[in-house]
Amino acid sequence: MSVIIDGKLTSAKVRAQLREQVANMQTKPGLAVIMVGDNPASEIYVRNKIKACEEVGIYSLSCKFDATVSQDEIEKCILDLNANPSIHGILMQLPLPKGFDEAYLLELIDPKKDVDGFSAESVGRLVLGKYGFRSCTPFGVIKLLEEYDIDIAGKSAVIVGRSNIVGKPLAFMLLEKNATVTICHTKTANLKEVCASADILVSATGKALSITADMVKEGAVVIDVGISKLDGKTVGDVCFDEVSKKASYITPVPGGVGPMTITMLMVNTVKAAQIYGN
Ligand code: NDP
Repeated sequence: MSVIIDGKLTSAKVRAQLREQVANMQTKPGLAVIMVGDNPASEIYVRNKIKACEEVGIYSLSCKFDATVSQDEIEKCILDLNANPSIHGILMQLPLPKGFDEAYLLELIDPKKDVDGFSAESVGRLVLGKYGFRSCTPFGVIKLLEEYDIDIAGKSAVIVGRSNIVGKPLAFMLLEKNATVTICHTKTANLKEVCASADILVSATGKALSITADMVKEGAVVIDVGISKLDGKTVGDVCFDEVSKKASYITPVPGGVGPMTITMLMVNTVKAAQIYGN
């Protein structure tokens, strides 16, 4: 049986370390969260982010707008936050309602405050192996591997999914840690064989229970980023019961990668205040 990688426990440990760090900082880190409209899922995410800030000791500022707000007003809000010395991190809760130019607005966030790591500059820095903010979900995956002392260097890592927020940035983060990386997607031929060659297999497709035991090498590390609802239950991409009999380490869903995302946002915000704060 595999070791279950506990994201809740790891997240709590990292938050406790951050709380201590923040208590000793002269500049209190500040995070601004911009939310447009009343998407219920976004509201829950924003609430959880504000709660995490309170837990760690980060000052949080919520900038909430009706869906009827103009793009100019959001633009002005971002520019004001860029200039606000109490704010070290700015995050825009996505998706924005229809009609807003998401990509344009994201690029307005000062890269020194881009704690979500979504801007072209942050992604470019990652690709170039330069210092910068790493996007939170893949950064959380790396943190879990490190916390469980899982070797990455020299390992064959296969990622299923090539989105801009998970698959692609994770590929570069694993490359940065000297893994040999393969990225799979819907057009990948022989997906089963490619997955079965992985020492570290990460699935980030959102296709419930699509990774079965025959796609996993004996002793592989299996990381499940996917979150889906199946018959009212939250499940991942991986058939946990059968794969956990084969893998050496595995993340559960829920309770694996999920809890790490907001925690890594806190890590990035504290880092922003340490490096760029006054
Ligand atoms: P996207 O829908 O943006 O991307 C999914 C990727 O998976 C695409 O690259 C797609 O390929 C690939 N894919 C889909 N089906 C298959 C298949 N059958 N075989 C091979 N590849 C496939 O999703 P996200 O990256 O945004 O999210 C992925 C999952 O991770 C979701 O379940 C989401 O809820 C979860 N998630 C969890 C987070 C957390 O834990 N905090 C944070 C972010 C996401 P192609 O490009 O060819 O279409």
